[in-house]
Amino acid sequence: MIALKSPREIEVMRRSGQVTADVLTELMQAVRPGISTAELDRMAEAGIRARGGIPTFKGYHGFSASICASVNDEVVHGIPGERVLRDGDLLSIDIGTTLDGYVSDSAVTVAVGSISSAARRLLEVTQECLMLGIAAMRVGGHVGDIGAAVQAHAEAHGYGVVRELVGHGVGREMHEEPQVPNYGSAGTGAELREGLVLAIEPMITQGSPRVSIQKDGWTVVTADGKLAAHFEHTIALTATGAKVLTLREFAERPEAQAYRLMPSATV
Ligand code: MG
Ligand code: MG
Repeated sequence: MIALKSPREIEVMRRSGQVTADVLTELMQAVRPGISTAELDRMAEAGIRARGGIPTFKGYHGFSASICASVNDEVVHGIPGERVLRDGDLLSIDIGTTLDGYVSDSAVTVAVGSISSAARRLLEVTQECLMLGIAAMRVGGHVGDIGAAVQAHAEAHGYGVVRELVGHGVGREMHEEPQVPNYGSAGTGAELREGLVLAIEPMITQGSPRVSIQKDGWTVVTADGKLAAHFEHTIALTATGAKVLTLREFAERPEAQAYRLMPSATV
């Protein structure tokens, strides 16, 4: 069953999303060669708790940290640790906050130092996939519209779309119905209705979309060892359109380019 949210619930989720966005911004600013993923994780937990939130990931199905930190060929669910980031790495940070009983969920992939132009392109296109997915989130549409938009853009650039992991409804629980695949056909799947809150999260690969899981039981890596990127926002569908609840301050950032793809009602 899909739990639609009232305007009051969406307002609480917006506050949760603001904590997620602010802490993620801090982490993005801290990423540099020489920092460990464990340091970023400690920053994340401190930042969430300082704002009155609870790190949603910590303890989720036994996960030990407050963020997922996935490097290079790691797609998602990397466990923070003593790994030190190096110039040229790609780092995906996924973070969730529970505030006043409601979850927000967001992720970005960022460059560590200077990265190759091919890696830069993967980041840009994956973020554009997210924005096109958000733009497809309209009252009266269908969940398949989102996946179709994401898939078309990724595959037009020769990239792979991971099938095994999908976006999801979000609210009192991090993972609620419906599932939101990053592939599919427009006009199929559950209808998009006012009050629906989704985490849309394209996971895009440079090569084959096939993935496998590392021995730690969590870390998802590309089967061919090529790079992957992951961007995610929590978005509410309201009477006046889709609202991104985890929107970061972006005007001065290169990533602002991708935001041109969002309909103006979302900002
Ligand atoms: Mg997430
Ligand atoms: Mg998610």
